Amino acid sequence: MAAENLAVSRETFDNVILPVYAPAQFVPVKGKGSRVWDQQGKEYIDFSGGIAVTALGHCHPALVETLKSQGETLWHTSNVFTNEPALRLASKLIAATFAERVFFGNSGAEANEAAFKLARYYACKKHSPFKSKIIAFHNAFHGRTLFTVSVGGQPKYSDGFGPKPADIVHVPFNDLAAVKAVIDDHTCAIVVEPIQGEGGVMPATPEFMQGLRAVCDQHNALLVLDEVQSGMGRSGKLFAYEHYDIKPDIITTAKALGGGFPVSAMLTTHEIASVMAPGVHGTTYGGNPLACAIAETALDIINTPEVLNGVDARREQFVSALQKINEQFDIFSEIRGKGLLLGAVLNAQHASKARDILNASAAEGLMVLTAGSDVIRFVPSLVIEPTDIAEGMARFARAIAKVLN
Ligand SMILES: *Cc1c(COP(=O)(O)O)cnc(C)c1O
Repeated sequence: MAAENLAVSRETFDNVILPVYAPAQFVPVKGKGSRVWDQQGKEYIDFSGGIAVTALGHCHPALVETLKSQGETLWHTSNVFTNEPALRLASKLIAATFAERVFFGNSGAEANEAAFKLARYYACKKHSPFKSKIIAFHNAFHGRTLFTVSVGGQPKYSDGFGPKPADIVHVPFNDLAAVKAVIDDHTCAIVVEPIQGEGGVMPATPEFMQGLRAVCDQHNALLVLDEVQSGMGRSGKLFAYEHYDIKPDIITTAKALGGGFPVSAMLTTHEIASVMAPGVHGTTYGGNPLACAIAETALDIINTPEVLNGVDARREQFVSALQKINEQFDIFSEIRGKGLLLGAVLNAQHASKARDILNASAAEGLMVLTAGSDVIRFVPSLVIEPTDIAEGMARFARAIAKVLN
């Protein structure tokens, strides 16, 4: 195979890739379930899940089977033609949620870009072109297009790229009074993650989420939930909004939707979707049959009591292992999050050590993530084996011992 003739290593990265990432020092080459192997054959346990993406582990047999069979059938048609996998996946997402219409994209940012454009367009068509204000939250993360970084609440990601889209206001997360102080009839949408992921694994409180629904209704604004990280079973329900007893107007999903194959979706109601018309928005790959076939299989597996009910049991195993580590090392101030979106918050004494712990974990054969500077984040496969959790936590304890000594 000619493609394998060129020898590449971690060093090659620094010479050929745009330097927007700082990847770990090893190069994974193979994965199975929650185990990964690098170029040297060293084995890792994966608590990072490709950043909450590989929700069924690596190379799940059913996903591989769909990849192969659809790969031999039809890959791509463009939206000049529709296709069966996209129509089936959309129908199943609608059956499983509040939604009545689906738009497919290829990444979380694209699903959010579609959601924000739809919210503005709906307000423009139904109310007034001046109803364009978007309320979003400090530390929020919504993707890396210019609109989505601007709605995101971390200016370091949006500064330096020229004028930003206007009429976006940021207030503190979980602070309903701050929202009430800025919302008005010119507001088209509130955009929020039910559980802030990148921003530090912070769940919205029920009062906050229900309060957002109420103020949106008062001002004819849409409640847009970014479920790119919290969705597809991660919280123990198919979508995290189900924990809050509210009905959103728009949700977005990506990451785990394709189990590792790039695909995203924006879900909304028929009423909101009805302002759209052919040509108003679109994307070449959106609803690609290969991506949708794989996502359909992922959804069929994740949206079952076996997988969803297994999330809380696995969470408990994580939390009790982390508590034990904390009894030994006194390093965490809090374990937070929902389901298998877990954050271990470093206490003040160890607050700057998140990156060191990530690196020490890799050396011990464990893949973890950080969220901000002082949170270790765990977003493993939803079907990770209890033995893998136990072994991974043993490795994590060794990594922490090394960092603290
Ligand atoms: C990862 C993430 C995104 C961006 O998704 P991409 O696929 O990287 O574009 C958006 N919102 C949330 C909440 C995320 O976690």
